[in-house]
Amino acid sequence: MRGSAGLDRTGGPGVQGTGVGVLDKGELAGFLGGLIARYRVFAPVQEAETTRFAPVSSAGEVTMPATVTSRPLKEIFLPPSETLLEFEVGTAGGMVSSVKVEPVGPGVGVGTGIDVGVGTSDDDSDRPRVIFGTRPCDARSLLLLDKVFDSADYKDGHYVARRRGTAIISVACNEPAETCFCTSTGGGPFDEAGSDVILEDLGEVYLVKAVTDRGAELIAGLEGAVPGFWRLSRPAEDGIEGGGRLEAEDDERLEQLLAAGRDARKRAEARIPALVPARGIHEKLKVIFEHECWGELYRKCLGCAACAYLCPTCHCFDIADEAIDSKGRRVRCWDACMFPMFTLHASGHNPRPGRKERFRQRVMHKFSYFVENNGDIACVGCGRCIENCPVNMDIRSVLASLDAISISPDSSASPAVSAGAV
Ligand code: SF4
Ligand code: SF4
Repeated sequence: MRGSAGLDRTGGPGVQGTGVGVLDKGELAGFLGGLIARYRVFAPVQEAETTRFAPVSSAGEVTMPATVTSRPLKEIFLPPSETLLEFEVGTAGGMVSSVKVEPVGPGVGVGTGIDVGVGTSDDDSDRPRVIFGTRPCDARSLLLLDKVFDSADYKDGHYVARRRGTAIISVACNEPAETCFCTSTGGGPFDEAGSDVILEDLGEVYLVKAVTDRGAELIAGLEGAVPGFWRLSRPAEDGIEGGGRLEAEDDERLEQLLAAGRDARKRAEARIPALVPARGIHEKLKVIFEHECWGELYRKCLGCAACAYLCPTCHCFDIADEAIDSKGRRVRCWDACMFPMFTLHASGHNPRPGRKERFRQRVMHKFSYFVENNGDIACVGCGRCIENCPVNMDIRSVLASLDAISISPDSSASPAVSAGAV
C-alpha cells in the first residue's frame, strides 16, 4: 500500500495492476447506488446542524461536507454506548443462587487470534459494510485506533468485528479547512493510509484508486455495473465485456490522470499552512511535565470534553452494570480524561485533581505516551477540537507554545510559556 510509513495495514496494489478506475463526476450518484445495491453503506448525512456517518439507502441522503464530518468516524466502530453482555441473577432464600451471563454484540466469539472475516457486523450480518466519503485524516485515525483495539496483545471483539467487516472509501480533500493540519501529523489531504479506495476529484472525473486488495476487489465488482465508471488498469484475464471503458493499454490517459492527481495533491497540501510541532515533541513533553507553562496553558479550558468526544482518536471508555430487579446489562460508553470523575478513586483521592492536570494529560497522552506505547502520535490533524472548543482552545498553538520552551542542559525546563499564544 502506498501512503504514510508506519501505518500501512494490509498492503495492496496502489496504482499498479488492477488498482485504478475513473468515474464521471456526474455519475457519483450512480456509483453510490451501485455500492448500496451490494453493501451496507454508511456515508455522511446532515442531521440538524451536524454531519455524521450513518447508514444510507439512497444517494440522495448523502451530504458531503467540505472536509470532515462534525462527528467523528470512530462512532461507527466504537459506539458512544453499547451493551457488552446481559445478565440475570437468580435468588433462593434471599441469597444469590445463580448468575446467568449472556454476551451480546458483534464481538461475541471474537478473541485473540480469531479472524472474524469480512462480512461480520452488528447491524446487518449478511452484508459487508462500506463507509463512503471518509476524509483521509479520519481513515488514518482508524489505524491509530487499531493499535489500541486490534493489537497483537489485545483484541476488542466488538471493535474487531466491525472493523474487519468494513471497507473504507475515502475522498481526498482538494480544499482543506483553515483548521486542518494533517500534514503535520504524518498524513495529508490525499493520504491513502487507512483507506481501501480513495477518490481524487480532478474536475470532470474522479480518479478511483484502490489502495488495498479489498479495495481492488471492490472496484472490480462495480465495473460494468455502474454507468460512467471503468477501470483504467485491470488484469488481462478479467474478460469483462462492456462499452465506454478505456482499453487496458491506454497508458497515456492513465498517466495524464495520475499527473493531474499529483498536481491536485500539491495544490491541496499548499493550502495547509505552516507545519505544527506535533511529531517529535514527545521527548520534550516528558521533560516539561512539571513546567509552570501548564498553569497558563490550561486556564481557559472548561473541562467540557467536547474535544475528546469529537476527536477521532480519543478512545477512553467506562463500563458500568445497569440492572432492574434481577435482570441487567453491562454497558460500555465513551468517557474522557477531561472529566474529574475519570480518575476519581473509591477512596476519594484523585490523581488528576484539577483541570490543569487533566488538560496536561490529554496533551501528554496524544503527543508523548501514545508515541511511547504505539509508535505514533494520537492526532491526525482533523481540526475538530479547534473548530468545536467553546473557548477557542487551539491544539496547534498549545503545541507551538510547548515547542518554544527552552530546555536547560540539565534537562530541566526554563522559561514559562506565554498564555497569549494559546
Ligand atoms: S473542548 Fe476546549 S474547553 Fe472543552 S475540554 Fe476541550 S479544550 Fe477544554
Ligand atoms: S486532537 Fe484535535 S486535531 Fe488532533 S485528531 Fe483529535 S480532534 Fe483532530
